[in-house]
Amino acid sequence: MSLDFQLQQQLDVRKVQSLYRMRRTASSPQGVELEVDGQHYLSFSSNDYLGLANHPQIIEAFQQGLSRWGTGSGAAHLVTGHSAAHHALEEELADFLGYPRVLLFSSGYQANLGVHQALLGRKDSTLHDRLNHASLLDGAKLSGAKLLRYGHTDVNALERRLSEVSSGRILVVTDGVFSMDGDIAPLSAIANECRCGGATLMVDDAHGVGIEGAEGRGTVSGFGLSPLEVPVLMGTLGKAFGVSGAFVAGSEALIETLIQQARTYIYTTATPPAQAEATRKALQLVREGEDRRQHLQQLIARFRSGATALGLNLMHSVTPIQPLLVGDSAAALQRSRQLQKSGILVAPMRPPTVPEGGARLRITLSANHTFEQVDRLLEALQ
Ligand SMILES: *Cc1c(COP(=O)(O)O)cnc(C)c1O
Repeated sequence: MSLDFQLQQQLDVRKVQSLYRMRRTASSPQGVELEVDGQHYLSFSSNDYLGLANHPQIIEAFQQGLSRWGTGSGAAHLVTGHSAAHHALEEELADFLGYPRVLLFSSGYQANLGVHQALLGRKDSTLHDRLNHASLLDGAKLSGAKLLRYGHTDVNALERRLSEVSSGRILVVTDGVFSMDGDIAPLSAIANECRCGGATLMVDDAHGVGIEGAEGRGTVSGFGLSPLEVPVLMGTLGKAFGVSGAFVAGSEALIETLIQQARTYIYTTATPPAQAEATRKALQLVREGEDRRQHLQQLIARFRSGATALGLNLMHSVTPIQPLLVGDSAAALQRSRQLQKSGILVAPMRPPTVPEGGARLRITLSANHTFEQVDRLLEALQ
């Protein structure tokens, strides 16, 4: 049997199970109005929560960065790819977050792999929320450490898991805001368990930075936690920041360890310096973005009250991620297609991105949406 024949059989099975994924091709910049495959849609399907992905000031900073630095970084950070632009961004992020140091990674996926691999070995353990992002799970597997998963946001389950570990380093890892459910991890209680259990806490705040906390410093700051309580803070720059890339914030020793040991940091080309310049501008807009965050909160409130009035199956989320649970994958796909017919784009999320039987419409709001656009979405859902 040829490889292609085998692959085609597997692909056909996915189609029958309504699990086949298809890419949409956008022909406009990212935004709440999106042109896809020649049609115009109102989109509730990006992570561009603050509406910065096509912001004129960030575009200008990127363009000036290109004139100043050229297109490519030319090398990995440890060779000659680390520029003054990258360095300034790291220092500005550290200042923003209130952490001693920050290290840039080319993507969140790489940051999560790198942290696990650099900090953990076979004799160590890592405890994960069951709904953590796939990149965290992959990092745990790559590290060779013992992986123990606990029930979603269940602090008692975490405590039981902690009591099962008797030796080695222990890294407890959780999303700050859960990417598919939109709920926020109980970070104070988790930090407390970590202190009692001698564990180090890592928070992946990909969906929290820019949105939660004062100036958008994220969920860790929102809970009033310090770098001592959350020694490893990871965030991404391709969501609320509207650009691309990621960072890890931590102590001097942590960041130096990642520079020496994290293979996804060492063996990859640094992002373009111009991108770092664009991200510095994005950081400034995030910090000054109180109006954007306030409008976003008002949109969330309007959507939730409207959806409640319609009797829709809302989840417990106060963030811009407002999923509607459907359950069956075929049904979720069907609803997404119906919405698309009425000009609205909402991506269906299906296993393995979400648990079996947990297919949903992942509605996301952006500060660039208007109240009228949220009302249009509610009408279409009705
Ligand atoms: C998006 C995301 C990542 C990956 O970040 P990229 O920069 O897109 O690679 C990691 N963790 C969480 C929770 C995410 O949502």
